[in-house]
Amino acid sequence: MTKDIATLLLALLLCQLLLLSHLTIVRDTVLGRRPEVRLLLLVSLAMAVGDLLLALRTQLSGPFWLVISNVVVAGGVRLLAVATRQLLRGQGADRGDLQSMLLGAAVLSLLVLLSAPYAWIVTWVSLWLAQPMLCIALLVWRQGRGRERALSMVLLGGLFALGGGLGRALEAHLGPERADSLLQPASVLTTWLFLVMTFGALAAQIGLLMASFERTALQLEQMATTDGLTGCLNRSAAHALVGHEIERSRRDSRPLALVLLDLDHFKQVNDRHGHAAGDAVLRGFAQVVRSRLRHSDIFGRMGGEEFCVVLPATDRAGAHEVVDALRHAVERAAVAQTERGETLRVTVSAGTVIFDPTVERLTPSPDQLFARADMLLYRAKHAGRNQVQTSGWVSLNPL
Ligand code: GH3
Ligand code: MG
Ligand code: MG
Repeated sequence: MTKDIATLLLALLLCQLLLLSHLTIVRDTVLGRRPEVRLLLLVSLAMAVGDLLLALRTQLSGPFWLVISNVVVAGGVRLLAVATRQLLRGQGADRGDLQSMLLGAAVLSLLVLLSAPYAWIVTWVSLWLAQPMLCIALLVWRQGRGRERALSMVLLGGLFALGGGLGRALEAHLGPERADSLLQPASVLTTWLFLVMTFGALAAQIGLLMASFERTALQLEQMATTDGLTGCLNRSAAHALVGHEIERSRRDSRPLALVLLDLDHFKQVNDRHGHAAGDAVLRGFAQVVRSRLRHSDIFGRMGGEEFCVVLPATDRAGAHEVVDALRHAVERAAVAQTERGETLRVTVSAGTVIFDPTVERLTPSPDQLFARADMLLYRAKHAGRNQVQTSGWVSLNPL
């Protein structure tokens, strides 16, 4: 493969077409609706057309095709930088992108019109292509750390393409003798630099698609486990975690508290102030509770105005204290405001059940623990609301 750039271009074109077909297939899915994936489809198309034009350089020779093929590839690389920015910062193309494209194309056209030496043209084109790659590498380096893992492939691909571009510019400028066509390179180094540059750009595209996929999967997982109104866990996610915590509590021989919270007379809030105000109250209530919980505590919405809290490694006295402090905080808080500026306040009743594996003989199922907490909540409501009822999990003696 020492000097056969045409074969390399063909291989690259095939890879690019594969990626393009994949992007076309996912176009109508949730992944394809992401803005950076839409941009990536254009990138892939531009790169495939660019590669094809470069591979056909012997048939499509002359200044016009030289300019067109490089403008198409440069457009693809620039769009790749835009797609990366879109994923990391949520920003699309801006005026700087257009200016850089116009400037690059104008200088290239001028060089070709003035019949500048081929080395100058190669140097300019390589720098023009390397610049977006530098943007991509810097962007991922600064803002991509700790985010999607596939971004490391974008960074690596960007750095490779940047290195290849800069190397090619340097080689064209400093090298001894230049050939006058891309398809008949003067040295093996040219072939290698071209390879590094083009496959680096391809790796960055694949990395970006994978990073988008990662982000979509994470968002879908969050949507499946989170309550949209309050940001708490939803019922099924909370229920699953309760099972997990019961098992952990038994294994570690540490007590566990499960709390059911229900807003008092919440229907009246809806009836008096409207459903939107009711929603605001639910959000405000969730915020008050969340702000007082530990990182290891679990907070879920069971439905309507009923919530659950799991306090791992908490005994009966500790749990009663925490939940009563929660109740008190809710009572004092201005949880929401109506459109007319009225402050809305609510109170909450709670049923707290403690499972202590060091004293209980039987381990309850999540449903059993929830049923016991529900009974305690009912008691709190019955005894006048705005209060907490706490009890141990006693499997053999119903309340
Ligand atoms: P109690 O003190 O006995 O718990 O009385 P309550 O009024 O809080 O309970 P009830 O079950 O009678 O009413 C609950 C109300 O919660 C009825 C329902 O319309 C309202 N609700 C349920 N989900 C939502 C929601 O997502 N948003 C709003 N705004 N209201 C909701
Ligand atoms: Mg209620
Ligand atoms: Mg209720």
